[in-house]
Amino acid sequence: MICLGIEGTAHSIGVGIIKDVKGSCRILSNLIKAYQPEKGGIHPREAANHHATYIADLIHDSVQTADIDFADIDLLSFSQGPGLGPCLRTAATAARALALTLEKPLMGVNHCVAHLEIGRGTVTGCTDPVLLYVSGANTQVIAFAEGKYRVFGETLDVGIGNCLDKFGRTCGLGFPCGPKIEELAKQGTHYLPLPYSIKGMDIAFSGLLTCAENYVKNRAQMEDVCYSMQETTFAMLTEVTERAMAHTEKQEILLGGGVASNRRLREMIETMARDRGAKFFVPARAVCVDNGAMIAWLGFLMYNSGLRMSIDDSVINQRFRTDMVEVTWRG
Ligand code: AMP
Ligand code: MG
Repeated sequence: MICLGIEGTAHSIGVGIIKDVKGSCRILSNLIKAYQPEKGGIHPREAANHHATYIADLIHDSVQTADIDFADIDLLSFSQGPGLGPCLRTAATAARALALTLEKPLMGVNHCVAHLEIGRGTVTGCTDPVLLYVSGANTQVIAFAEGKYRVFGETLDVGIGNCLDKFGRTCGLGFPCGPKIEELAKQGTHYLPLPYSIKGMDIAFSGLLTCAENYVKNRAQMEDVCYSMQETTFAMLTEVTERAMAHTEKQEILLGGGVASNRRLREMIETMARDRGAKFFVPARAVCVDNGAMIAWLGFLMYNSGLRMSIDDSVINQRFRTDMVEVTWRG
């Protein structure tokens, strides 16, 4: 089966085409175009305008790159939520239009679950992981338990990526500045104390963010502030992930989201995995970030398990929670 998936929850619009090959995912194409605000954070309407500008070309280019015809597509899927309303609506509208034109079925999928499933589908040996999903807007620890993907811990305020980006914006590092913070942190030598806020299994970043900004205002070395931010936030993430592993007794850890590119975060999670005798997986960057292939793959899994979605049921859900999804495709 061949599925074309459209991702459009936030800053990126992506179109990916996948083919299932005996239960694993072959990616035929996976194109992404990311909106970059000139200043400030993501403006939902501006981002949606960006997506509307590029979606038609992306669909054509993705079909061409996959070396297929439109007639070869068996299923259309799209990110139904969670995300920014205008962005979600743009992607959903394109997917509906394409499904109606091609007279093919349509499937809306949960973006967070797609991050986990693309790991299972493309990374050899990754079968039942705890996912540490670290992106701009989202920070969640997710694992499969009793028929659903459950959130074992999550941020109570901003996502880790937003925390890093907000810091970078205030301090003039530009956007997105996760990679810049990573570079600067390598030169940091002095740990500056920052709030370590874990509440139960959940995490909060905003107090730490204010504190880090104050260090910069008081002329602390930028390298030391970046280093301290990474050490503290990543330790919080590692602690919650480890507790979820212990609780679920799972033996695999998967990273997902844009912040998964960070070497220091990988190192910390990998060390924890090794100490527990667990396996550690990071998918290729192209499928770690928001992308259409993961949406296509989850659309296929859902459809293949017997689920169907009418156009009427394909309304977007900005607050689509990970644990609202009935997982019908796992035994
Ligand atoms: P996503 O929302 O999943 O597309 O991820 C985007 C986020 O990843 C942005 O907040 C970036 O700052 C962050 N990011 C990308 N690369 C890195 C990195 N090397 N270290 C930390 N954060 C990163
Ligand atoms: Mg994402």
